[in-house]
Amino acid sequence: MPRASGPEHHADSPNDRNLSRSARMRLILERDGSRCVWCRRDIDTERVPATTEHLVPRIKGGPSWFENEMAACARCNRERGHRTPADWIDELERRGLEPDRAAVLRALHSLQEAIAERGGQRRARPYVVSQLRRLERGRPQPF
Ligand SMILES: [Zn+2]
Repeated sequence: MPRASGPEHHADSPNDRNLSRSARMRLILERDGSRCVWCRRDIDTERVPATTEHLVPRIKGGPSWFENEMAACARCNRERGHRTPADWIDELERRGLEPDRAAVLRALHSLQEAIAERGGQRRARPYVVSQLRRLERGRPQPF
């Protein structure tokens, strides 16, 4: 299949500016599943609406790209605040929860690729690198 000339201008691109918020959320849920990446609760339900979480917070220079967004429950989204994904994962694990490290790692890699392709993002770039380094180091083994 021939590649579209520019993903930015492709009508079905998740980064299309004309895509509505709900259409974009639909694509995020299709990609990641309808669970909160942090606490793994089912989201997108009557009681627990899905919210958009930025891997690299906007305030830290994170882009409003599909690749920088994950779905989370409103509670985790709010509680995380501007903490880094690695800090927030540590905190959730201290509370006995099992955040989806693998999904966060996948998303960080995909964001890193998107930045390499599109360029720019001078603040987000080192943030992603340091998060990957921390998360790939993994947790100390108990044995
Ligand atoms: Zn949650």
